[in-house]
Amino acid sequence: MANVLSLKRVSASSSPPPGVSEVQPVAKLIDVSRCIGCKGCEVACKEWNDLPPEPTHNFGSYQSHEDLSAQTWTLIRFHEVEIDGRLQWLMLKDQCMHCEDPGCLAACPSPGAIVQYANGIVDFNQDACIGCGYCITGCPFDVPRLSATTGKVYKCNLCVDRVSAGLEPACAKTCPTGAIQFGPKDQMLERARTSAERLKQRGYANAAVYSPQGVGGTHVIYVLPHGDAVEQYGLPKDPQVSPAVHAWKGILKTIGSMVMGVGLVGTALHYLTYGPTWAEGDKEDGGRREVTSVGRQSGQGDQPHRKD
Ligand code: SF4
Ligand code: SF4
Repeated sequence: MANVLSLKRVSASSSPPPGVSEVQPVAKLIDVSRCIGCKGCEVACKEWNDLPPEPTHNFGSYQSHEDLSAQTWTLIRFHEVEIDGRLQWLMLKDQCMHCEDPGCLAACPSPGAIVQYANGIVDFNQDACIGCGYCITGCPFDVPRLSATTGKVYKCNLCVDRVSAGLEPACAKTCPTGAIQFGPKDQMLERARTSAERLKQRGYANAAVYSPQGVGGTHVIYVLPHGDAVEQYGLPKDPQVSPAVHAWKGILKTIGSMVMGVGLVGTALHYLTYGPTWAEGDKEDGGRREVTSVGRQSGQGDQPHRKD
């Protein structure tokens, strides 16, 4: 059986990851029309991922926190807007969208710091993260956050540990209204379309499914009652991976190839000029061991020993 954590993409790597195999893409469906703003999903996320509480303050909103952070990976945003002369609360569960074409991964210069599994989940590997913040610039949804304490970047990982064990993400497990559902992506898309159709029949003429194609679609799918007002939910209307990110990758690859080329040419020139070199003591063992000057041990003299 295919490993559910087979890799699909790896940051700063041009070679295809090993073991890409037939794994069913998964998705989280968030039907905004069913969300009552209880914030149970926020608590479940903190609890499962062992994220500490953070101080909150009143900034004139019912939100628990003003923004996502390195320790708050999901947040119910309360947008108070006027639509058709009526004040409305457009609530939105904010978190990583798990883009099919992740701008964060494309922008990351550190090998293996960001991976995309074959099931579509995009995950950060803090051990390989160098804290440069390029992923933050590359994300069209403004999701990853840099920790001032660890110097690493964090975001929702769609409870990859639970999913790989056949469980749903903690937020989906806890949601009391069924606003968050989880399963195979094609099923979730089908359910999303059905929900949007029902909303239309209930008078929400512009109800729509949000899984923008500018990032190749997403593995977090919204059903929005006001699909014509995505920006009022705080979502980008047409998110794209910036061309600068792809250009940056091209430049990195070119520089990498140039550095390798210069290294190879330098090694060849050194060999042609000086020939192979010998370590101290090789004369005693008959000159059988051939090493380069780089391989010499300290205290064995500063000059490479010529074979002759
Ligand atoms: S939403 Fe941002 S952080 Fe999440 S996968 Fe997409 S680009 Fe990466
Ligand atoms: S748990 Fe469900 S209903 Fe409660 S805030 Fe989260 S999405 Fe909304």
